[in-house]
Amino acid sequence: PFDFKPAPYYGPSKEQVLKDRLAHVHPSVLLYYEKPIMIVQGKMQYLFDEKGKRYLDGIAGIVTVSVGHSHPRVIEAAKKQLEKLAHTTTIYLHPNITEYCKLLASKLPKKLSHIYLVNSGTEANELATQMSRLHTGNYDMVALRNCYHGMGAAMGLTAHSTWKQPVPQGFGIKHALNPDLYQGAFREDDPNAVEKYLKHLEHLILTGTAGQVAGYIAEPIQGVGGAVVMPKGYLKNAYKIIRSHGGVCISDEVQTGFGRTGESYWGFQKDDPDLVPDIVTMAKGIGNGQPMGAVATTKEIAESMGGAIHFNTFGGNPVSCAIGQAVLEAIEEDGLQQNCRITGSYLIKELERLQKKHSIIGQVRGKGLMVGVELVKDRKTREPASAETKKVAELMKDNGVLIAKGGLYGNVIRIKPPMCFNKLDVDFLVDVLDYSLSKL
Ligand code: PMP
Repeated sequence: PFDFKPAPYYGPSKEQVLKDRLAHVHPSVLLYYEKPIMIVQGKMQYLFDEKGKRYLDGIAGIVTVSVGHSHPRVIEAAKKQLEKLAHTTTIYLHPNITEYCKLLASKLPKKLSHIYLVNSGTEANELATQMSRLHTGNYDMVALRNCYHGMGAAMGLTAHSTWKQPVPQGFGIKHALNPDLYQGAFREDDPNAVEKYLKHLEHLILTGTAGQVAGYIAEPIQGVGGAVVMPKGYLKNAYKIIRSHGGVCISDEVQTGFGRTGESYWGFQKDDPDLVPDIVTMAKGIGNGQPMGAVATTKEIAESMGGAIHFNTFGGNPVSCAIGQAVLEAIEEDGLQQNCRITGSYLIKELERLQKKHSIIGQVRGKGLMVGVELVKDRKTREPASAETKKVAELMKDNGVLIAKGGLYGNVIRIKPPMCFNKLDVDFLVDVLDYSLSKL
């Protein structure tokens, strides 16, 4: 049952907005759809265009809207703070900063007690890189191929050609083989695949660095890379290898954090609740779409920043902190982690049912509400069905469901809706996917 009526839209027409955009907005990012949509309102898991057409948001903005579009608790917190004070700067004291950092730290393993507030995932990963280098005195960073950790200086960490620019990026960064058991160098039919990926990681350190590294960064489930789940045992042993070569371990939780994966609050805990990285980076869902990010680390690493000041103008903004706090409270109050577990496993089950019907579905994977559907031309060769994926995204949009494409070849349908998604939403999304695949 859904009785929400979007407010009437009186703004400029879609055609006018498109014209102005082409004239004034730097076209570095293309519009996603051939026939672009203009979204003007949101309510929990739904979005509305200027004509009031409703879309089910299967990608949560861009994995940013964790607790739901225009969640009442988030609106209330932002309004209250805006009425009092929108911004000063972190050089003064403000209770929201300390309250928020205390609350966020309480969600993390005890040793990750020190929080830095920033503005985006890119900035969080740049800071994590700096911290690793300052703390260890080493220079080389290791990341995984097919990962995404941001643009700017963090583009050096990112290893996905779509997002690279042909200019020098982030020196001292090495990329290890991605432990992708579906498309990677070693696959699920090889019982020693995980061991081989770990051997490669160690070999990369021994041959490509001075033998000692600053840090290692990985997403427990690769987001932009197409919901590639780090295989069981991989992260734990990768951390061991990195630490034995003097490095610190960074978990990029920009997409996997805050209960989205269902069974654990953080992605790094997905197979082993005792696994603790040295640095955790966060953004996207942390602010339900508000531009904010954070880095959590240990007292020792924070202290080794020493005289190096880390300052940014907007990090720790009192409105952002109030929103961040409301998000954490909504996750608890609305039971969203549990919902991700329950609704997520229903989603995977339903997608697997669809897989039996459509041979183009090569693999369904993921955890909680972080799911990927990889489309292939042939299940044996696993040749990516990239053009078909583009078409499916377009058809789904026309039929009222928004998803994202991902993976190295753009052949993975990414489903990462707001964490309040329910079974009826899954049924609708899966029906529309079924219909769209049958139209190919
Ligand atoms: N890390 C991951 C895992 C991401 O998915 C992203 C954004 N797609 C980033 C970092 C960079 O975040 P931002 O776009 O906020 O800079």
